[in-house]
Amino acid sequence: MILISLIALVASLALLSSVMLIYGVVCGKEMDNGLAQKQLDSAIVDMTPASAPKNGALWTVHADKGVPPVELAKAIAAWNVAVGDNILAGSVNPDFFAAGDMENAVYRLSTIAVSAANLSPSKLECGGTVTHAFRKGTAEVMWTDIVVGNEWLRSKPHIALTHLLGHALLLDHDDFHDTSIMRHSIYTIPLSFEVLKTDAQLLRNVWKQAKQKRRSSN
Ligand SMILES: [Zn+2]
Repeated sequence: MILISLIALVASLALLSSVMLIYGVVCGKEMDNGLAQKQLDSAIVDMTPASAPKNGALWTVHADKGVPPVELAKAIAAWNVAVGDNILAGSVNPDFFAAGDMENAVYRLSTIAVSAANLSPSKLECGGTVTHAFRKGTAEVMWTDIVVGNEWLRSKPHIALTHLLGHALLLDHDDFHDTSIMRHSIYTIPLSFEVLKTDAQLLRNVWKQAKQKRRSSN
């Protein structure tokens, strides 16, 4: 057991050396590109999850005490219902960990951490910030940190959390549809928002790929 732990530790350290952290990657005014993309060397590639966990959901969501549990649960359900699969599972968790906590690398794999903060107006249009930690060279996302603005948690928590989770699931902005949850500005997303069928289909494909990666790594 100790040997296995050591191997896991060494593997996680090796993994970390190949990880790059990026901040606010998706909070721009791009139009609909489907999945979030990264420029790698000379190519632009879609971001994908590093792998699916052995059991359960694709991503586990952990939120700090500043995030209303009921609103987080509603946002998670919005994505699971739209995709038709349990891609997200999670809760407000006393063991919440913040961005840059490298000691918990193993624990963080396939995790989305959500915290609340007072943000500057420039960051509020997107609801907050989304940071993906991904492997250099492949754009495979290992974990994601979301910071949601307290202002939105007071006024439009369901919309802000659902929008930011959409980015965490690797979706880009979409301003072609008036009712899309992925419009670039939270100010313009209606209370009766929807997850577009095209976005839900993209996420089903991502989930399928992640499951295949899991099978081939076993
Ligand atoms: Zn956004």
